[in-house]
Amino acid sequence: KTEHNNFQFLDLPRQDPPKTAAPIRIYTWNEIYDQFDEKSAAEQAGRCLSCGNPYCEWKCPVHNYIPNWLKLIEEGNLFEAAELSHKTNSLPEICGRICPQDRLCEGACTLNDGFGAVTIGNIEKYINDEAVKQGWKPDMSNVQPTGKRVAVIGAGPAGLGCADVLIRNGVQPVVFDKYREIGGLLTFGIPPFKLEKQVVLKRRQMMEDMGVEFRLNVEIGRDIQFDQLLDEYDAVFMGMGTYTYMKGGFPGEDMPGVYESLPFLISNVNRVMGYEKDPADFFDMKDKRVVVLGGGDTAMDCVRTSIRHGATSVTCIYRRDQANMPGSMREVENAKEEGVKFMWNRQPVEVVGNDTTEGVKVVETRLGEPDERGRRMPETVPGSEETVPADAVIIAFGFRPSPADWFDPFDIQIDERGRVKATESTPLKYQTSNPKVFSGGDMVRGADLVVTAVFDGRQAAEGILDYLDV
Ligand code: FAD
Ligand code: SF4
Repeated sequence: KTEHNNFQFLDLPRQDPPKTAAPIRIYTWNEIYDQFDEKSAAEQAGRCLSCGNPYCEWKCPVHNYIPNWLKLIEEGNLFEAAELSHKTNSLPEICGRICPQDRLCEGACTLNDGFGAVTIGNIEKYINDEAVKQGWKPDMSNVQPTGKRVAVIGAGPAGLGCADVLIRNGVQPVVFDKYREIGGLLTFGIPPFKLEKQVVLKRRQMMEDMGVEFRLNVEIGRDIQFDQLLDEYDAVFMGMGTYTYMKGGFPGEDMPGVYESLPFLISNVNRVMGYEKDPADFFDMKDKRVVVLGGGDTAMDCVRTSIRHGATSVTCIYRRDQANMPGSMREVENAKEEGVKFMWNRQPVEVVGNDTTEGVKVVETRLGEPDERGRRMPETVPGSEETVPADAVIIAFGFRPSPADWFDPFDIQIDERGRVKATESTPLKYQTSNPKVFSGGDMVRGADLVVTAVFDGRQAAEGILDYLDV
């Protein structure tokens, strides 16, 4: 145990665990960050000021009890910290790895004012990796089965968050997913250098041990009809994500050599995980000049994946400046270290080439006045056209909600942007216009974050428990 010193932050700077040097890590698919050891986790946790009103806790979308588990780690109580961490978060080891902490908990840390925020994400990861390694398991000994069963559609973060809260309250979740493995975009989207797939497989094992049932390779609406779920289960949760690919709407977008981001990333995961059926399904960027269009997390994952394929050059083109990128700053820095070139304030207007892609025509942009949401919209600079040579172009403009074509008979209302209408403030949390159906995650918010999907799934489970009156 270490003695708490309120002024530890003065003597001990913020320190992340070391990361593998860029020239080495670009040849592997492994996560780039190392793990804290017990001593460094305790020391870093001891930098926390235990603010009376912890901003980090409010900014964290699941409202983790951050100062409390930091204190437990400082005192060496690993299993208690893991237990507490699971009270608010269903996937803490995953959020610790891939939340954009600089915009969430760590961005709100009081020490951010010149001293360096507490390393909250890496400690959350340490707590939960290490506790499981040492044999910690969720305590299910007081759970009383209620005999109720809920169908969960989608084994992404929202579905997993919902299933976690249901099973801990004695309600049996049966989770359906059309993919062969759980995780949604955690598995089939986010690349292994940010989140090794073993981490998701361990979480699957833990949830199965708790009693969650997964039925994979089953698509609702095709293999099983939705009305069958409504008949056979006491309630239904939908966490089906958002998968309509956003296009740029400029000439040349359908030319050979232009790729959509998600099929590219999935083809890569399939190869890394040994799921590939046919080598022709793999989109290989080796020896190509790659241009990625977009500035979010998906774009950062595409550039860094292309680097690991052995691309000759990788350029990211984004229409705003670095400060206005939606992606995590940490990932932009990691991409720069790995050799990605960024062209800020450039708007693509055409993919040029004859039978195949030869380049991307761009114009320069400058930021206009802020709109009503405070975001400054880019305007183009006349006469600034140039062509960036490219053998492959990956389009990563994001995703729009994709409501299922079987919703109609079931009174599940969607809004004008295609998002399922379900909110935290309806009488029962995350209940849709069909009282037996609840929903959350990207299909309710639009493309967002893992941690917000987990939050929605957990809240929806509370709504379902109220609905079932258990
Ligand atoms: P999903 O994760 O999309 O899961 C939905 C699941 O539903 C899927 O498994 C799908 O197969 C299943 N499904 C859909 N329809 C059916 C059906 N009819 N029958 C059966 N199953 C069905 N967020 C972060 O916080 N940090 C990051 O670093 C980050 N990086 C990202 C990188 C990429 C490339 C992408 C695309 C997203 C990233 N995100 C990141 C966003 C994050 O992954 C999503 O916000 C989150 O996964 C949404 O969770 P969800 O459960 O709502 O949906
Ligand atoms: Fe920070 Fe995300 Fe963990 Fe919350 S869940 S404490 S935002 S890393």
